[in-house]
Order: sequence, then structure tokens, then C-alpha cells
Amino acid sequence: MKIYRFLEDGPRPTKIVAVGRNYAEHAKELGNEPPSEPIIFLKPPSALLPHEGTIIRPPQSERVDHEGELAMVIGKRARNVKAASWRDFVKGFTCANDVTARDLQKKDVQFTRGKSFDTFCPIGPCIETDLDPADLSLVTRVNGQIRQNGRTSMMIFPCSTLIEFITGVMSLEPGDVILTGTPAGVGPLQSGDTVEVEIEGIGTLRNHVA
Ligand code: ZN
Repeated sequence: MKIYRFLEDGPRPTKIVAVGRNYAEHAKELGNEPPSEPIIFLKPPSALLPHEGTIIRPPQSERVDHEGELAMVIGKRARNVKAASWRDFVKGFTCANDVTARDLQKKDVQFTRGKSFDTFCPIGPCIETDLDPADLSLVTRVNGQIRQNGRTSMMIFPCSTLIEFITGVMSLEPGDVILTGTPAGVGPLQSGDTVEVEIEGIGTLRNHVA
């Protein structure tokens, strides 16, 4: 089942948990080793942007990148979940763009500023509740040109491991969102661009850039 308008009608997320360097080729392109356990960080709910919304490039940054990602939306309160029962806590899956001010991320050493500007977390266009996320095509296009072309089977840590790892740290509430990491091919967005993240079985998240 596909649920639209989930941002407007569903429970408002209390947090967005994102996973860094979860695809080996992406870790390599930024000069990092693949991690031995998940690297997690937070994006604020104030960064959320719906399908067809406009990403605003902030004046503080000269390098704003797209990161197309599979997102999980939590369906019920989750704390210390074992990997084997991860699916009971996930309502479904959507497309996300972990928009990043790459220059500020590098300058600050940690991720908060570079990942947290308003409009830096587009998600949508719908939640697909009936989907096996193990091996889905994930494509990011800018102005119709393919920039990222990966498969979710290339994740270093799959959804089951991420749910166990994250809920061992913090309780997840209904509506909370987990971004599962981006494949190789991240690159800059310019004003006037249209960026699309398409995931097999879910659909295409489209946003504009200003
Ligand atoms: Zn990311």
C-alpha cells in the first residue's frame, strides 16, 4: 500500500536518524575507510521538505550536495529491537535526499550544521508499506541526468542491523525516519536544478533548487 501526504497527516517525526558511509564506494569517494560499525547522526525535523518542495541553498555554503537514500519510517515505538524482528517496527519505506553542505561538513568536522539547514531533508512521494528493501535500484538524477546509480544490496549494514544498532542507543517513535546512507556519485546542486531520487517499488521524489 502506498500512503501519500504522510508528512501532513501522519505523526510528526521526533527525529531523523541518518547513517554515514553505508556504501563502500561512497565512503571511498570522500576519502574514508568503510566503517566497522554504523556511523549515525541526526537531522532535525525542521529540515523536512515534501515532494516537489524547493531546496534552498544557504548563503553560508558554496557546495550543496545531493545524497539519494532509502528511508525507513517507524510504525511503532522501538527500543532495544533485535535484528530478527526489525520489520515489525517499520511502517514502510520512502525516498529521501540527505542534502549536505559539504564544505561546512568538512570545516566543522562533525555533521550538524552541514546536514541541518531548513529544506535539507526532502522525503517522499509516499510510504510503501509492502516492500522488501533488500535489493532495490536507487537512482539520483539532476536535470534528468543520472548522478547516482546503486542498489540497496550494496549497503554495508542492512536495515535489520541499523534498527538493532539505533534502537540500542535511542527510542524511536512512530513517524521517526531513518536515512540508510547513499551510494557513490554525490555531487553539487545549483539554483534552478531539479533533483530526483527514484527507488524501485516506491516512486520518484522530485525537488527543485533555489
Ligand atoms: Zn547521507
